[in-house]
Amino acid sequence: MSEPRPFRSFVSPSRYVQGAGAISLLGELIAPLCASPVILADNNVWGFSGDAVTESLRKAGLDEVRISFGGRATDREIASVSSQLTERGADLVVGLGGGSTLDTAKAAGSDAGIPWVTVPTTASTDAPGTGVAVIYTDEGVLDHFRILGRNPALVLVDSQYVANAPVSFLIAGIGDALSTWLEARASGGAGRALVSGFQAPATGLAAAELSWTILRENALQAIADVKEHKVTPALDNVIEANILLSGLGFEAGGLSVAHSVHNGLTVAEQTHGLQHGEKVNIGSIVQLILDGAPDSEINDFISFTTRVGLPTSLTELGLSIQDTETLNAVARRTTLEDEFVHTMPFTVTPQIIVDALTEVETRSRAVREREGLPAPVKYEHRR
Ligand SMILES: [Zn+2]
Repeated sequence: MSEPRPFRSFVSPSRYVQGAGAISLLGELIAPLCASPVILADNNVWGFSGDAVTESLRKAGLDEVRISFGGRATDREIASVSSQLTERGADLVVGLGGGSTLDTAKAAGSDAGIPWVTVPTTASTDAPGTGVAVIYTDEGVLDHFRILGRNPALVLVDSQYVANAPVSFLIAGIGDALSTWLEARASGGAGRALVSGFQAPATGLAAAELSWTILRENALQAIADVKEHKVTPALDNVIEANILLSGLGFEAGGLSVAHSVHNGLTVAEQTHGLQHGEKVNIGSIVQLILDGAPDSEINDFISFTTRVGLPTSLTELGLSIQDTETLNAVARRTTLEDEFVHTMPFTVTPQIIVDALTEVETRSRAVREREGLPAPVKYEHRR
């Protein structure tokens, strides 16, 4: 990795609003920003949110104009949405829904030269508040990241939507957010460059660490609450950690091994049904191993995230330590030249990654056996 530019830099969404029923505030919050907003949402999300969105816009004197999102965040889809925004004279785009919808709204808004607002209906990643969009191929394979250079004008999270969504989304978001402090302390905290090329401010590192603390204290309770579709203080704490703090913590704290391992795992077809945060959790364990963390810390992380319901073994991903061909392919992708794995203070070779992935499997089995947790089995893909 190149040395950071000698300036500290903090980025964030301009505004963040969260709580049960917050969707009713959409019109009021965007009215000062626009005259002709356009909503991007798929039919499923529009089915449970459309009436509330329309009513909220009407109260603020805004018309409801929607583009129906039907696909993936691909270059082709983004170009199509961007030209529709321009044709309709949109001066702001609201992405309403899951990760692909939000990424498409961000990138299309950027291309159309207008601000964007994100309204995530799950807490499954930390992407909604960030200036990064994940672009896929038409086949659904991770293609590249777009650094937009701007963040959303508003992130609006209705906690009731998060509580109504399948719990696997919240669990994946916890996996994504738990990686944030582990990566920030190894990256920005160790003087390495942020995604933006700048240095990490203390604010970014503090956000990352706070996300970690909140999740350790609230994650298990919040998971129980979402299973009953209840919005509670524990759930609101976890939503804030998953979406706001984790996003601030990675953009202004830095990425490292965990997300590079995630990117590596995407080359294994077995993992394609898994969510981002589920794969990231394997990366977090590899991060701890490469950090040289004490046994007790690594094992405690495995124990905690197993209880959360995240994968902590290769077996759960559908991989095995005997499949050296796949593990080598994962390791090669993980260690590509521009990957954040190279924020580590030593040269990370593919063999180091293969060895660490093997250790993940053996450690996870040992921890489970010692703690009376069930042995790992391949995940039912639940996306
Ligand atoms: Zn992530």
